[in-house]
Amino acid sequence: MTSRFTGTFTQQEPIPEAGITAALKVLRHGRLHRYNTLGDEPGETALLEEEVAAFTGAKYALAVASGGYAMGCALRALGIEPGERVLLNGFTLAPVPGAITSVGAEPVFVETTEALTIDLADLARKAATSGARVLLLSHMRGHICDMGALMRLCDQAGVRVIEDCAHTMGARWGGVPSGRHGLIGCYSTQTYKHINSGEGGFLVSDSADVMARAILLSGSYMLYSRHHAAPPPEAFECLKLTTPNISGRMDNLRAAILRPQLADLPAQIVRWNALYRAVEDGLGHTPGLAIIKRDPRESIVGSSFQFRLPRMGPETIQEMVAACLARGVELKWFGAKEPVAFTSRYDSWHYAPKQRLPKTDRVLADLLDMRLPLTFSVKDCVQIAAIIRDELRKLT
Ligand SMILES: *Cc1c(COP(=O)(O)O)cnc(C)c1O
Repeated sequence: MTSRFTGTFTQQEPIPEAGITAALKVLRHGRLHRYNTLGDEPGETALLEEEVAAFTGAKYALAVASGGYAMGCALRALGIEPGERVLLNGFTLAPVPGAITSVGAEPVFVETTEALTIDLADLARKAATSGARVLLLSHMRGHICDMGALMRLCDQAGVRVIEDCAHTMGARWGGVPSGRHGLIGCYSTQTYKHINSGEGGFLVSDSADVMARAILLSGSYMLYSRHHAAPPPEAFECLKLTTPNISGRMDNLRAAILRPQLADLPAQIVRWNALYRAVEDGLGHTPGLAIIKRDPRESIVGSSFQFRLPRMGPETIQEMVAACLARGVELKWFGAKEPVAFTSRYDSWHYAPKQRLPKTDRVLADLLDMRLPLTFSVKDCVQIAAIIRDELRKLT
């Protein structure tokens, strides 16, 4: 079989018509700034925050300019100071160590398991020895660790947890939404995530103190009472004169685009998971290829797919990636020496102190990754899996 796949791995669906209509309305009235509201109109951003709070079950939600901003804001709201150490996954993406570095703190990477989740034994060790007060936990590529065990470990160690849910908006562990296990949940609405406003992000939390700080930090100009999914004004009283403004608000245009997408997200998740299961079924029982096992306690959003080629050396993996690309299947390899596009790894972030993660190195060495945008059909995914299987057979 030499069929070629012709879909585009980076092409998302268009913005839904309801979002386009709402965006045009904002453009026509011109009140794009979130606090530029008329009379008692709440504005799209405040409405979106209420909907994000309802979607996640959080008491409070704040919409901001990006996922990276949300994480930096979360660290600031927890009072992380320059020189402090912050724990994070060894397997994550650049905005995560970037957020830690943005507050002058030092990233301390934690090892990765074969399930692509944080290694709890290494986390326990580093929580005890690093002096870190915070873990910035990425649910990288949608893989969620045992959150009960992680929270017990962190609670006992006095480590507060910020969840980076850039890849898990809408996912759950043990029935609890991703982002609702730790003290703060952060989300991204950048184009490649689960809802798309180009750039954007959220923080959610049940802590009035944390959320009051985050709202002030985001640049609320003493207009915090215009937030709906926010703590009462008393929570801001003792903070409003001492919390710096580090502007990173969301605007009404992006919020207008996002609200209908958030409403559609449960239905989109069903579609994503059908694509994921089609690839998983297509690649199951392929000699030389290891599927990443999913825990039954995890409810996933299958917006990307990962697999490993455990017996294959780097030269052959490179050939495999090239052979699949020639047939239109774009695989990203986390084992490449030089970072390519979004696929950078912990040892390419030279602003962090040099660290060794042998277990993570072994996992990433043969890890391949692909996006599954909703512009693909189940039939496309069957074809993609067939091409991967076919090219793998030729190389082994
Ligand atoms: C995309 C992403 C973020 C947030 O990124 P922004 O581009 O700043 O919205 C955070 N963590 C991970 C793992 C991501 O992939």
